[in-house]
Amino acid sequence: MQPSVPSLLNGSCRQSSEQLFDTHCHLDLPELSTDLPAFLTGAINAGVRRILVPAVEAARWPGLLQLQQQTSALTIELALGIHPWWAHSATEAQLGVLADMLRAETGVCAVGEIGLDFALVQADEDATKKLHQWQQTLFSAQLSLAAKAGKPVVLHHRKSQPALLAELKRQQFSQGGILHAFSGSTAQAHAFLDLGFKLGIGGTISYERAQKTRDTVRKLPLSALVLETDAPAMPLAGFQGQVNTPAQLALVFSQLCTLRSESADLLAQTLWQNSLTALQLPS
Ligand SMILES: [Zn+2]
Repeated sequence: MQPSVPSLLNGSCRQSSEQLFDTHCHLDLPELSTDLPAFLTGAINAGVRRILVPAVEAARWPGLLQLQQQTSALTIELALGIHPWWAHSATEAQLGVLADMLRAETGVCAVGEIGLDFALVQADEDATKKLHQWQQTLFSAQLSLAAKAGKPVVLHHRKSQPALLAELKRQQFSQGGILHAFSGSTAQAHAFLDLGFKLGIGGTISYERAQKTRDTVRKLPLSALVLETDAPAMPLAGFQGQVNTPAQLALVFSQLCTLRSESADLLAQTLWQNSLTALQLPS
C-alpha cells in the first residue's frame, strides 16, 4: 500500500522550521521553467532555501548561468555537464567549452549531471553498444575535467553502479560529490561513501515497495545523506503522473523523519551541512 498525502504529513515528525537544500532540481526544464516564479514561491513556503540545478545538455548552460544571476528569492547553485540521456546530441567540442566554463564561471560548484544509463537501449544491439560506449567516453572525460577543476560531481546511474565505481577508481577521483537518486543496499551505498560521495535521497523512499532502499536509508550514518526532489521527475507516492516540484522536498524530508531516529531539527541541520560539504560550498 502506498502512503496517502495526509499520512506523509502526519509522520512522527512534522516539517521542522529549519532550512532545506534541494540538491537536485531541474528548474530549467520546460515543466518548471514555464511557471518558475510560482514554483520558487512554493519551494520557499515549503522551507527550501537553496537549490542545486544540474545541467542536462550544453545548449542549456548559458541559460542556467542567467537563471542563477536573475534569481534572488533563494540561492541557486549550478552544476554544468552533459547528462547521459542527452549523449546523442553531445559533441567533443562541447567538452572543451565545459573546461573553459569551469575555469571562468565562479558560480559553478560542480560538474553534473553526468554518469551512465545502461537502461537506455536502441533498436538493435550494435547501436545500444555504441551509445553506451559514447556515454562512457563522455562520463570519463567529464570526470577528468572535474578533477582538473577541483570540483565534485553529480552522478546519474541506472543499471550502471559497478561501471561508475570502476571509472571513479580508475581515475582515482578524489573530489567526491553526490550519487543522485540513490536506491540500493547498504553495501552499494558504502561503495560510494568510501569514495567520498553522499547519497541523494528523494521521493523513492515514499514508496512502500522500496523496502530495501528505505531500510538502507534507515541504517546509514546521517553524514551519508542529502535531500533532493529531482523535479520535475520522480513524483512521490500519491502524486504519480503529476509534475514533481521543489516544494515537495518538504514531503521527502517528512518521509526521512519517519525512517530516522534523530529529531527533525538535527536532521535538517545535518542534511544542510552535508549538502554544503558534498558540493564544497562555504558554510
Ligand atoms: Zn536529474
